[in-house]
Amino acid sequence: MSSNAISEIIHKNRINMKLSQKELGERVGVSNRAVSKWENGLSYPGTETCLKLAELFKISFDALLSGETVSERNWQNHSGMESLRELYRIGRGPSSSHSMAPEKACLMFREENLHADSFKIILYGSLAKMGKGHMTEYVINRVFKNRNFEIVFDHDNKNLPHPNTMDCYAYTDGKQTDFWRVLSVGGGKFVIDGRHRRESAAVYELSKFTEIAAFCRRKKMRIWQYVEMCEGSEIFEYLHEIWNCMKESIAEGLSSTGTLPGGLDVQKKANYLYTRHHIDESSETRENRLVCAYAFAVSEQNASSEIVVTAPTCGASGVLPAVMYYQQERRGFSDEEIVHALATAGVVGNIIKSNASISGAECGCQAEIGSACSMAAAALAELLGMNLEQIEYAAEVAMEHHLGLTCDPIHSLVQIPCIERNAVAAMRAINAVSLANFLSGSRKISFDLVVKTMYETGRDMSRSYRETSEGGLAKLYL
Ligand code: SF4
Repeated sequence: MSSNAISEIIHKNRINMKLSQKELGERVGVSNRAVSKWENGLSYPGTETCLKLAELFKISFDALLSGETVSERNWQNHSGMESLRELYRIGRGPSSSHSMAPEKACLMFREENLHADSFKIILYGSLAKMGKGHMTEYVINRVFKNRNFEIVFDHDNKNLPHPNTMDCYAYTDGKQTDFWRVLSVGGGKFVIDGRHRRESAAVYELSKFTEIAAFCRRKKMRIWQYVEMCEGSEIFEYLHEIWNCMKESIAEGLSSTGTLPGGLDVQKKANYLYTRHHIDESSETRENRLVCAYAFAVSEQNASSEIVVTAPTCGASGVLPAVMYYQQERRGFSDEEIVHALATAGVVGNIIKSNASISGAECGCQAEIGSACSMAAAALAELLGMNLEQIEYAAEVAMEHHLGLTCDPIHSLVQIPCIERNAVAAMRAINAVSLANFLSGSRKISFDLVVKTMYETGRDMSRSYRETSEGGLAKLYL
């Protein structure tokens, strides 16, 4: 991110909205001189002002920083999607932006400064505000343990290029030898300010379900074959790695007991659910109990800052593995079949990410858990050999009934309501596939339409319900 990117985006959006510098300043509570300085690259708006600008321009923080205009972030004009490697990432929970990206950035910084004798990390904006609940401090402590370092929480600096900004300093003999300004821009990605931002190339030319389905029908291929065509067969090696990591998270989560960190005194329940088996248990109850146990296992690993896979985010990382693991256990699907299902789920997640959002901070929990549920439903439909129409129906139903779901985690911890929500969404994905099996012929709503609806609903949602812990359960919980 450079100052030019912000300057341009503010200028372009202001002109698009036909506002003078004075009018824009009034809308976000600053002087016309401040707006003029931003547009000329002489200063940056602070975190709170960035929030207001993004709100006003109806764009995300990422878009604000990347120079994307209102008309560019437009459903009809969007084309192309990134590799599934950018969607499924392995890293430490509980938050892709607050723990996963800062940890990776600090590891890189440490590796590039092997001979430094001390380090200082300063957290700003949301990293400072949520840094304890979302475990930024914890992961940094892990990276620099046995080294001489300090972490500073700076709550005062508002003049930041991004709400998730951190500064990394390295010293030798008391002299500063290196400095990085790191911006954690979402989904586990980070950018080092001043370094060229390598944009991931669009490896998928198509980005709507309707287009992809039409292509697959024409070529008589399944969605996972479309993935192979676009990414090459190496993508399956990567997805095998992803699947192995998911299975490890489940196994470790099931054997872990005790209380989750963070002070809410939430007991881990995966092991309890897994072992509560009755001799006369019905098959339905067993399915429910086990699927939920697996979803709890991954989500509790995530809340404990252990390694998980973003699917599509850390907070929603339990839904897809729970559904896949149960199916493999029950019906004996091979790892290869599961990997193909993950490819189909990845396309569904990618469509949502590219045309709408998978960020709770941008569109509420519908964008995280709703997306995870759609991905899991599509994966299960793929696994069961359902046709394209049924896969679409399953993914659509899964998202449709999460529309409007807010994000309001108590104490900023990814625990309540997040963990149970993963379990409920996993069951809902299975229900969506059952419906699709019977009813896909009568479908009225397309997957693309429901994704567009989710995005608009998210943009209309009050900021209190978009990962600020200022509304809902977070506000009313005593
Ligand atoms: S409530 Fe918020 S933090 Fe929790 S899973 Fe949903 S989007 Fe993520």
